[in-house]
Amino acid sequence: MTKRIAQVIVGLPVEGPFDYSIGNELSGRIAVGQRVCVPFNRRNRLGMVVGFKKTSPFKELKPVLSILDKDPSLGDQTLALTRAIADHYGCSWGEAVETYLPEALRHTRAVNEYTFASKPMTSQKTASPACTLVIDETQKERWVYLQQRIKGVLEKGGGVIFLVPEAALTAFVINQFKHIQPAGVVLDGKTSSKDALLRWHDIRDGKIRFVVGPRSAIFAPVKNLALIVVYDEENRSYKQEQTPHYHAREVALMRAKIEGCEVLFVSSAPTAELWHLISRKGMTKVALKAKEMCPVQVVDMSNYNPRRSFILSIPLQHEMEKTLQNGGKTLLFMNRRGFFTRTHCNQCGFTLRCERCDANMTYLYSKKKMVCRHCQAENNLPKVCPQCQGSYLRSTGRGGEKLESEVARVYPQAVVGRYDKDTGALPAKFDILIATQAVLRFKEDLSVDLVGFVQFDAELSHLDFRSAQRLFTLITQLRQCARGKMVIQTRMPDNYVLLSVKKNSYTAFYRQELNLRKEVSLPPYAYLVSVCLRGRKEDVVFQQAHDIFERLTKNKPASVAVGDPRPDVLPKLRDQYRYLIEVKGKSLEKIMHYVKNVLKDFRRKHNTIITLDVDP
Ligand SMILES: [Zn+2]
Ligand SMILES: [Zn+2]
Repeated sequence: MTKRIAQVIVGLPVEGPFDYSIGNELSGRIAVGQRVCVPFNRRNRLGMVVGFKKTSPFKELKPVLSILDKDPSLGDQTLALTRAIADHYGCSWGEAVETYLPEALRHTRAVNEYTFASKPMTSQKTASPACTLVIDETQKERWVYLQQRIKGVLEKGGGVIFLVPEAALTAFVINQFKHIQPAGVVLDGKTSSKDALLRWHDIRDGKIRFVVGPRSAIFAPVKNLALIVVYDEENRSYKQEQTPHYHAREVALMRAKIEGCEVLFVSSAPTAELWHLISRKGMTKVALKAKEMCPVQVVDMSNYNPRRSFILSIPLQHEMEKTLQNGGKTLLFMNRRGFFTRTHCNQCGFTLRCERCDANMTYLYSKKKMVCRHCQAENNLPKVCPQCQGSYLRSTGRGGEKLESEVARVYPQAVVGRYDKDTGALPAKFDILIATQAVLRFKEDLSVDLVGFVQFDAELSHLDFRSAQRLFTLITQLRQCARGKMVIQTRMPDNYVLLSVKKNSYTAFYRQELNLRKEVSLPPYAYLVSVCLRGRKEDVVFQQAHDIFERLTKNKPASVAVGDPRPDVLPKLRDQYRYLIEVKGKSLEKIMHYVKNVLKDFRRKHNTIITLDVDP
């Protein structure tokens, strides 16, 4: 049969596929899964062939200009996976394919110098994927378990994808498997070099069977994929911040379903979503034998006025002195950078905020600058108040830098160090280390005697329904670093996170957390689709959010709940105002169908950007 009309998708937020005519010279060579060059909106663009048709409802079809791959870049399973991602996350199929492809294949240059040896795969499996959670309290034993599992898979000729939350961990992971053949190879989606493309092809052709990489490595075209490992499943970096806002855990499950492989999650304190999934029938939980975690002391700060006195309570100071006397190390956890966290005018009340994000500026003593923690903007500390020109500017609030100076004053005999994402390397020598969450990137090696969690309450946020879960994970991970003891300071000693930590009970925490989520229909019991609007003019964004809200509530099906439009957690970021509307329901398909229909004939004002963020 002569192919006359190709169905082509493009990497833009537009539904497709679009019909293109096929000239005689291409008709013998064109195939599904190939990258092609097509005219689209008066520009030549990368397109992907997803099918053929005999007739088209459109009369004048534009032609496919050229074929960019000799053989298809995308096999059947990849087309199925990208289609599933588009359906789930509300992006176009073409956008999902562009996310899948390596950087070097996302443009219209032909890459004929590489041969595409393998043919697209055809098998389609639909059974529920097998999932295993490896949960351990100390970390050391997990590697022995993982080495055995991966060795077994590789020996049988299967392929492995090993996901890590950040690229910095890849070298560490590869080193853990250095005695196993074939060796692991890093695939980092960010590089667009020729080497990276060659590597991608080697993976596709089965020359590389063991791939280690961050989130985007879930798209590595590994042949005979038998096992996907999601390491530190609880880490937030598994969720992509740009469209499509995919979560690597969810894509791993989709891919496992299509390719019939197993997913192995590794975590010390997984997300409630994963706990829920694993609790279902047929899923495995491997709790590795680990030594007991250190005891936790919760210090109630209710009757304590930290403004008057030192922020470290007497019990914590007592433990620190004991640790110092024994030559031990203390880690003080304080998740705020900088010296002062707020600067305001005592005369007119003006607060120094970032002009682009509308957030308080933090004073960094190390740089002698005011910085915005959201957009990294920097200013000098003004000498007079920008509003009343008075000289009554006062800085308050406490960040890690200030705590460092206070601790150094109280313990002059101790070596005091500090670590946050700006400081670079971990201090080689310290008695007391003041650190933000960034220190957990070293958690595999970090070992101290005492951990002090300085402000438990500051980490709980009513705007983020996952904050309790994150806090539970955070405490568990910090506790793993402590050999002797952990002290937590709080004004909420009865919080269920702390009660379960004291009881040493995972089940107590997840039971309570999941019950709370179920009561108010939040993931994993419902899907949450946020319609996010952003733009430079606040009144326009506000108005548009309310217009969409009205349309969303007009003929709403009973199975879908729509929340009031509200400013995002960061209402303004990098000069853009942000509003969102949350749509909830049990069936993602129904929500997406409804939301997409509403947005289809919504007239977006110029400069307003509307995106969908699907959770999970
Ligand atoms: Zn003033
Ligand atoms: Zn800013």
